Amino acid sequence: MAFSEIRTQRRITVREASGGDLFKGAVAIAAGTTLISCLTLDISTGLKGALLVVGCLLCLYGAKWVRKYLKDDKTYREYAPEWDDKHFIYDRFAKGLNAWYRQEELPEDADGDIAYFLKLQRERLRNKGLQMEKRVVPTKGTGYGTGKRSRKSLWYTTDMFFEQVSGTLAFHNANETVFEQQSEMTMYEIVAHTPDTTRGDQIRVTCPQCGAVNAALKLEEGCPYCGTRFRIRDLFPRVVNFFLSQFTRNYTQTTKRGLLTTNKG
Ligand SMILES: [Zn+2]
Repeated sequence: MAFSEIRTQRRITVREASGGDLFKGAVAIAAGTTLISCLTLDISTGLKGALLVVGCLLCLYGAKWVRKYLKDDKTYREYAPEWDDKHFIYDRFAKGLNAWYRQEELPEDADGDIAYFLKLQRERLRNKGLQMEKRVVPTKGTGYGTGKRSRKSLWYTTDMFFEQVSGTLAFHNANETVFEQQSEMTMYEIVAHTPDTTRGDQIRVTCPQCGAVNAALKLEEGCPYCGTRFRIRDLFPRVVNFFLSQFTRNYTQTTKRGLLTTNKG
């Protein structure tokens, strides 16, 4: 089954300062100072006056563009991209994932499989005396936003969302940071939604209350394990999978060799 065409949701973002503005400013100032330098030539006073006026105007005009460039550049440098968790599941999940790695709650939109995997991952690292820190934010300045490809199955619709993100991955032991990497990645999230309610007996979901896997229909009647009742529509949308694919270029990494392998086993 092929995915349908890609749609994108643009992200409101701060753009990088335009090199064109700086160029315009520099050219105007260069032309202006050239005209003003003609005052040393042996020409009529009237012409000198005209050259001075035009030269000064060009310099002022150029300075305006240079100022605009410097202001935009400062804004861009100080701008820290953030997820917008108010209306969009992709952002909410990304933000929730960052929080999880800061030792907070599990992402609220994660399905049972993701919750299980995240807990397992934390457990394994703890046994090795390590703590993992992961943080992703929208990549600065692309403005491309989040791409989406939808696929309808018999049971529900699956959206694959993806966006370029800037990620930090670090591992800490009790004393120090043993590994740290910053890189540009694409983060994919697979979201299941709009279930076919007539197929509730065939859609398998994890109980949000106790984590047992059931047919969605069973959860409508009451979870066989914990008794909680859900409406099938309450069980969606859910992020059912996510992954990060890293570009091979454009990253920095610091490793303390050996430290990662001291607690093997
Ligand atoms: Zn349950």
